[in-house]
Amino acid sequence: MSTPQLSERESKALAIATHTNLVRKPNNTWIVPSQSGAKTYTVNPDPESPFCDCPDFEFRRARCKHIYAVEIVLKREIVTVGQTQTVTETLTVKQKYTQDWPSYNKAQQNEKAHFIEFLHQLCSGIEEPIQTKGRPRLPLADIIFAATYKTYTMVSARRFASDLRDALAKGYISKLPSYNSIFDYFQMESLTPYLRQLIAASATPLKSIETEFAVDSSGFSTTNYVRWFSVKYGGTEDWHDWVKMHLMCGVKTHVVTSVEISRATKHDSPFYKPLLQQTAKAGFNMQEISADKGYISMKNLQTTIDHGAVPFIPFKSNTQPDRGTDVWSKMFHFYNFKREEFLAHYHKRSNVESVFQMIKSKFGEKLRSKNETAQVNEALTKVLAHNLCVVIQSLYELNITPEFWSEAA
Ligand SMILES: [Zn+2]
Repeated sequence: MSTPQLSERESKALAIATHTNLVRKPNNTWIVPSQSGAKTYTVNPDPESPFCDCPDFEFRRARCKHIYAVEIVLKREIVTVGQTQTVTETLTVKQKYTQDWPSYNKAQQNEKAHFIEFLHQLCSGIEEPIQTKGRPRLPLADIIFAATYKTYTMVSARRFASDLRDALAKGYISKLPSYNSIFDYFQMESLTPYLRQLIAASATPLKSIETEFAVDSSGFSTTNYVRWFSVKYGGTEDWHDWVKMHLMCGVKTHVVTSVEISRATKHDSPFYKPLLQQTAKAGFNMQEISADKGYISMKNLQTTIDHGAVPFIPFKSNTQPDRGTDVWSKMFHFYNFKREEFLAHYHKRSNVESVFQMIKSKFGEKLRSKNETAQVNEALTKVLAHNLCVVIQSLYELNITPEFWSEAA
């Protein structure tokens, strides 16, 4: 099986096509910003003899990144115009993007080194609370660094101890936490808002790339065996305790832009609005949001529209076409009478499933912490670790230079 590979020019083109606005002129030429954004070039994407007035094209007389960028945008246009073509064309672009093997391998090889560097950068943005009475404790930055690093490495405590000593020697932490106390730190309630802040900050380097988002939830099992349950209701021998993670992600890079953790029994729909609000607050420009039919409600549709995005949420079969609001009947008709067009957008939702798969396969689908606060914090470090890996991948594929705090909301 052959795997399509992106040349360096093609991946730069993808960055241009995702970052910037390409403008089509009436004569079918295009104005394309240079990758730095400092200049523009004129491109004629004629398939027989494409032309660009940049130095690269002048020198090589072969497709440059600006021509590739226009071709990517043209492919996307088919997406909005076509009907049956839509899905396949989107997938072509998408597949090329995810199968950028050289960049992928490079990113993998250097992942750990980047990971600790970026994690340190993020943690150094933490404003330490003023130390009150009692014996001096570890700085929060060190605690969060150690806890997230532990989640990332997934190694035994003993092996992790040497990783930590290494991090201390390199100046990534200021003090050495005792390695068997890492899980005790997860019990600190004060950690939660900081972890959430760091997750938001870790996503900001991808702000200019992500405009389409997806929402979903998934369960993480805990080691708590709920004995009282089988006692009370009888018979359910292997009933484990579960924690539910609700998240919103960007569909291009799989970065998590907002997250909520709840008990497993909570319904999904009420989490849609806070997830969307946090993503907006982080400065993302939302154009479309897809979620499964469990999220359909007037409130969720309206919230999406209020934020300037289009909701792609399927209606349930027993839904009334008219519930007295414009947005409801508009989306209902779109869903029922332009089904293919609807599905072309809605299929992007599957990306959020990929995100859960990535998080669970890389950082484990079990939570080792025993109490609720610790489980929330442990789950959040999985998301933070995931985001850092996404940023590292983008560093290679999209030439992103991460500056976490410069634009953080
Ligand atoms: Zn060019």
